[in-house]
Order: sequence, then C-alpha cells, then structure tokens
Amino acid sequence: MTVASGWQAAARGSDVPVGGREPDAVLEMPKLKVLFVGSECAPFAKTGGLGDVVGSLPKALHRLGIDVRVVLPLYAGMPWNTFDVLEGSLAVPMWFGVARAAVRMTTLPHSEVPIYFLEHHRYFDRPFIYGPAEQGYPDNLERFTFLSRGALELCKAVAWIPDVVHAHDWVTALVPVYINTVEWAQPLHGCASIYTIHNLAYQGINDAGALFITCLGREHYHPGEFEHFGAMNVTKAALRHSTLLTTVSPTYAKEIQTPTHGCGLDGVLAERSDDLHGILNGIDSDDWKPATDPRIAANFDRGDLRGKAICKAALQRDAGLPERPEVPVFGVVGRLTYQKGMDVLAYAMDQILRWDVQIVLLGMGDHDAERFFAELSYWRHDRFHAWLKFDDAIAHQIQAGADFFIMPSRFEPCGLNQLYSLRYGTLPIVRGTGGLNDTVVSYDEATGEGTGFVFYDLRPSSLADTVGWALSTWVDRPKHIEVMRHRAMEQDFSWDRAAKEYERTYRLAYERRRGHPFG
Ligand code: ADP
Repeated sequence: MTVASGWQAAARGSDVPVGGREPDAVLEMPKLKVLFVGSECAPFAKTGGLGDVVGSLPKALHRLGIDVRVVLPLYAGMPWNTFDVLEGSLAVPMWFGVARAAVRMTTLPHSEVPIYFLEHHRYFDRPFIYGPAEQGYPDNLERFTFLSRGALELCKAVAWIPDVVHAHDWVTALVPVYINTVEWAQPLHGCASIYTIHNLAYQGINDAGALFITCLGREHYHPGEFEHFGAMNVTKAALRHSTLLTTVSPTYAKEIQTPTHGCGLDGVLAERSDDLHGILNGIDSDDWKPATDPRIAANFDRGDLRGKAICKAALQRDAGLPERPEVPVFGVVGRLTYQKGMDVLAYAMDQILRWDVQIVLLGMGDHDAERFFAELSYWRHDRFHAWLKFDDAIAHQIQAGADFFIMPSRFEPCGLNQLYSLRYGTLPIVRGTGGLNDTVVSYDEATGEGTGFVFYDLRPSSLADTVGWALSTWVDRPKHIEVMRHRAMEQDFSWDRAAKEYERTYRLAYERRRGHPFG
C-alpha cells in the first residue's frame, strides 16, 4: 500500500492548489488475489458446464479488479505452441518422489487473465480428459493429485501467493486439504480456500489404500477427513477442509443436504450448512449472443427476430428435416446420461413423434443412449435427427434455430443450456430441479406469464405431456409464445452478477481464515 503524501504531490507541482489545502491522500487498495485450479477451462478444454465456468468467471472477476489466475493441465490437442514457456521446470512432490512439469502460459481469450498450463505428457497427453465414455482412467487420482499439488507449487515458484484458492469438483478437491496439511507453516498456509461443487455425483472415491498417492499419511484416514463408508473419498476431505463451500445454484445447495440428492454426503453438507453458498452460474454473454454469434445462419435480437426464422430453416436443412416454418422444432443438447434423463426422453419419444413436431439432438455419452438415438434418427428421419458428437457450432445452431429446448434432468446443479436457450428465445421445457428450478418460470396459460414449461414428475408420460403442452400453446396461443420469447431474451444471466457474489464469498472466506477483513 502506498500513500501519495502532500509532500509527493507538491513535488509533482501542479495538483496542489495555490494557497489551498493539499489534495486528500490517495490510497492504492491492494488487489484480492485468487487462484483458480481446474481440470477444464473453455475454450481450451471442456466436457461440460465446469469448463464454461472456469473459462468465464475469472474474466468477470478480473473486471471487478481481482487479480485472478488459472491453472490447468496441458492436454493433448491444445495449441501448446502458441503459448509462452516459463523457463525451467516445476518440481511437484509425488508419492514416488518428484514429478517435473514444464509450465506454459497465455491469457484467457479477450482478457488479461493469466492461465498456466502444467505440462506432463504421461498424465495428460491422452485422447480424453477423464477417460473414455462411462469409464475414468484408472490413474485419475494420481493425475489430479499432480494438478492440485502442482498448482500450489507453481504459486510459490512464481512468487505469487494468492489470498484465496478456488477449487472445482473432486479433481481439485485435494487443494484445500493440502493448504491445511502440507502447507502448514508454509507460504500458502494463510490462503482461504473455496470449494465449488459443480456436480456431487462425481466424488473421487477410491480404495482406502490409495491414500498414499496423495502423499498424506494414514492419520488422515478417518471419518473427519477422507474415510467415508469404508472408502477414501476426496470430496469429503474437501468439504471438511475448505474455508467455505459453494455450489452452482441456490436450489441445488438445498437439495444436496437431503438424502435424495446428497449422494451420501448430505450429512456432511448439512453440518456445514451455514458455510455453503448457492451462487447461480452465469453465461459468457459474448460467446452466447444471438446478435453477433458468428456460428449461426443469421443474427437476431429481441427487437427483430427475423434472423431466428432463418436459423430455423438452416437447422432443418442441416438436420435433413423438411423445411417447414409452421412446425415447432425441439432441441436437445447435452451429455447422454442418466443424470440428464435421456432414458426418460427415449421412452417418451414414441408418444412425442406421433405429433407433427421435429426434434434435433446433439450429444454423446452412454453407449445404449447413443445407439438408441442413432437408430431412431434412421427410422424416424422425417421428424428426428441426432448428431452423436461434441460440436460447439451445432450447439449454437440448435439454440438459435429451435423453438423449444428439452431438459428432463434427474438432477441439475445449475444447467447452462437452459440459460443459452432463454438468451436465444428458445423456450426451455425443463424438469423443476436444481438450477432449472431457479432459472425457468413456468408458463401460466391464464396470464401468459412465464419463460418456459416446467414439470416435476419424471415419467416419460409427464415429459410427453409437457411437450404436448408446449405444442398446443404453439398452435393455439402463438401470441403467448411470442411474448414469452421476448421475456426469455430479456433475462440477465451475465457473469457480472455472479462474480459480485463470488467476490463477497472470497472476502468472507479471507476474513474467516485470517481473522480480519481483506485490505
Ligand atoms: P453439464 O455440465 O452437466 O454437462 P451444463 O448444461 O451445465 O451440463 O453444461 C453443458 C455444456 O456443454 C453446455 O455449454 C453445452 O452446450 C455443452 N455441451 C454438452 N454436450 C455437447 C455436445 N455434444 N456438443 C457441444 N456442446 C455440448
């Protein structure tokens, strides 16, 4: 902190009024330093919403004046030769000794947020981030131990000691644990830690014997840290060690404290209820902006929706479906998994495809689901098309061209797709759970209020009925659809709102850790 004294001001000459009093002292406020440790970060590596969050929240925090930096593994396929290389190598303590990482760096696109990549070929030069569909790599605990420990070592190596370290999901769950253990009485010991639950279904559960991989001793294997129902659970350890906890929507924050959605950790979370904050995710409103989106056939905004009709025709053509403006197009984008209720959708298809509708689906995931939708695409090519791949451009084109968007999730920590839908005037049809419950207001036929169609009972017939409800509204009350579309596009889900809540949480965590406010 520096103080520009009157004496210094006088030396500069011009800004001391003649015969007047000296200008007020100018205090330079220290910047809060926050380290993000993540396994995904869009656009460099993404399999789902976690990648979107780690790719865009730091930019919004930076706009608030926070010195935020990100650490990520260097995965295969990244444009590594466009990144700068830090001189030397980073020594990361591992169970077998030391693993060395080269460190590359760049900034998050359209920002000044530094992002460091830990380069270790044996751990990260592989075809998948976590492993092939339905399986994780057997050494994932070791790979992400390396990331978690390496991120902390990097801070010391570049002499940048954060005030808060922010870890995301089980893959970085060891970060808060290390801050309380191996960093004891070390430079990082004063850091507050925030652990964000993006999806509690993934916890990092291993045999008890795997604890040695973390380099932590047997004394940490007890119910107050890693032990959970006879296994080693890294998420549980993070829930115990982190200064504060967050998750990605207020409803999910409540749900995970109940046995239905707590995935066995509801008791642990309920104990920390006062420290658990539900902060709704935002969206990257530059990337998902229909007025400028370069991936879609025509741009549009809520003042002029003509471009949306062009996008719909292009989507119908690309999907090989009849180009009929009067038929509503229903979009589906997401992982083809049990969580997303794709099995329920599969059972509902028979009923839905009897009606004069079109459905386009983009997704990858469980083999059975992929096979089902591939076959359906063949047999019902008049009304249904599936792209079974990961394709960002098609995801944008579906959001822009569809009239409705279906998300029958069993549970949904936040969900980003319904937020993109709202932004693109594509009315979401969602199950009222988690973040879907917090972001979509169900249609009221009497008043025309609402931004989408919400159902609760997760049976194929309930989903089909809700699609039927949207269809009948489309046919019988087109004015209501138009008004809802405008209302949906007006919603503000920018990161700036969420970033302010995160900043408050960081400051609270800092105060909790240090015993005094930041600054
Ligand atoms: P989750 O993180 O549980 O997978 P979210 O709705 O929070 O679900 O985020 C999913 C993100 O991944 C969205 O940005 C969505 O567009 C994207 N996505 C999912 N599947 C695909 C796919 N097959 N192709 C392109 N983008 C996809």
